Amino acid sequence: MLEASHHYFHKAATVLDLSDKLRDILLTPRRVVKVEIVTETDDGKLLKHLGFRVQHNAARGPMKGGLRYHPTVDEDHATALANLMTWKTAVVDIPYGGAKGGINVDPTKLTDNELQSVTREFVTRIKEVIGPMQDIPAPDVNTNAKIMGWIMDEYSRHYGFSPAVVTGKPLQLFGSPGREEATGRGVMYTLEEALKDQGKTLEGQRVAVQGFGNVGSNAARLIGEQGARIVAVADHIGGVSNKDGLDILALIEYVRDKRTVDGFSGGDAFEKDEIIAWDADVLIPAAIEDVIHKHNAGTVRANIIVEGANGPTTPEADEILVQRGVTVIPDILANAGGVTVSYFEWAQNVQHYRWELERVNDELSKIMRRSYAAVCDVAQQKKVDLRTAAFVLAIHRVGEAALARRYTREEIRF
Ligand code: NAD
Repeated sequence: MLEASHHYFHKAATVLDLSDKLRDILLTPRRVVKVEIVTETDDGKLLKHLGFRVQHNAARGPMKGGLRYHPTVDEDHATALANLMTWKTAVVDIPYGGAKGGINVDPTKLTDNELQSVTREFVTRIKEVIGPMQDIPAPDVNTNAKIMGWIMDEYSRHYGFSPAVVTGKPLQLFGSPGREEATGRGVMYTLEEALKDQGKTLEGQRVAVQGFGNVGSNAARLIGEQGARIVAVADHIGGVSNKDGLDILALIEYVRDKRTVDGFSGGDAFEKDEIIAWDADVLIPAAIEDVIHKHNAGTVRANIIVEGANGPTTPEADEILVQRGVTVIPDILANAGGVTVSYFEWAQNVQHYRWELERVNDELSKIMRRSYAAVCDVAQQKKVDLRTAAFVLAIHRVGEAALARRYTREEIRF
């Protein structure tokens, strides 16, 4: 994954004619933290997990990025995702740098109590390098508001009341209204803009969604509410389809209980990987990385892909999709709604003030639509695809900030 994010970086850096020195500055993470988290199981056995926090770039502000609890979490993985966060916060022009981290753990193997101990021990190990003006974690795969609440509490035990140290918290612990559905909502806004460019609306669009967790289920629900038909959904176990449109609220209820869409009676079952080639107008990968690759990119039938997940498309697949004329709204733009509302949450915490949901959604809409338009402008100006344009815009913003802070002898031609 690190290779893919570097590939997209260099492609855009070439468009910007960036020097090797500046490329090196912008790609080098500021700090990589690796910690041993030693705790005990409920029955007193020793538990050891590796935790990571990679802080990539702080030129535009405190670093921001999620925490993932998954067996694939390692240094390279966290570094790649930290990189993406730097470009993502720059694309939507919020005052942050990029970071990412997590714990190499399968949380389904731990009790709630064990998970809480592991989380609190992780915070104790990294507390010196995070903080409201330094690095602000948030939820990602397998982490949620409850875990963010534990992080806030543990950090506050050491440094006093600090709600702004983490975002995605429960509402009663200074979370923001609208944060939970923000990424899915942002996916909807960027899709609406892309359809507008084609003279269409969401009404009647046939949409296929991979992943039915936070991002996938919220995107499906919100997009469905605007008149689109969600014709297929797949997750890590199976898929379910209905050409008349799935009942998304019923599917959400079903998944709450069964933890999978597999077996849902409101549609026909299919093999989960068939979702990529589903006969739909729009495909939303909202699960994991590298799911659209050189072997299946040629089979995609949708003409718009909105990347709800981080890194769902490999560079080889990206080339194939661009050549085939498929519009790909890249992750660093499409799924930036989450970090944007995280920014609103942080801003509310810093000011000890609460916004109404309507204000959150209005401001999110403005930022997502403005960012989509800015990326399209660069794409037209530079005659490049949307992903390259998003990276060009982001690298330009981060590079200019880095140069203004310190490196005064170079400039970025834009
Ligand atoms: P989640 O854990 O809530 O849901 C993940 C979903 O993916 C689940 O439905 C799971 O079954 C499915 N999945 C896992 N492996 C799969 C496979 N092999 N095939 C098909 N489906 C599979 O996670 P989430 O928070 O919804 O995040 C999903 C993606 O979106 C990740 O790439 C994450 O980094 C990205 N993202 C999340 C947010 C956010 O606010 N949660 C923000 C930006 C980006």
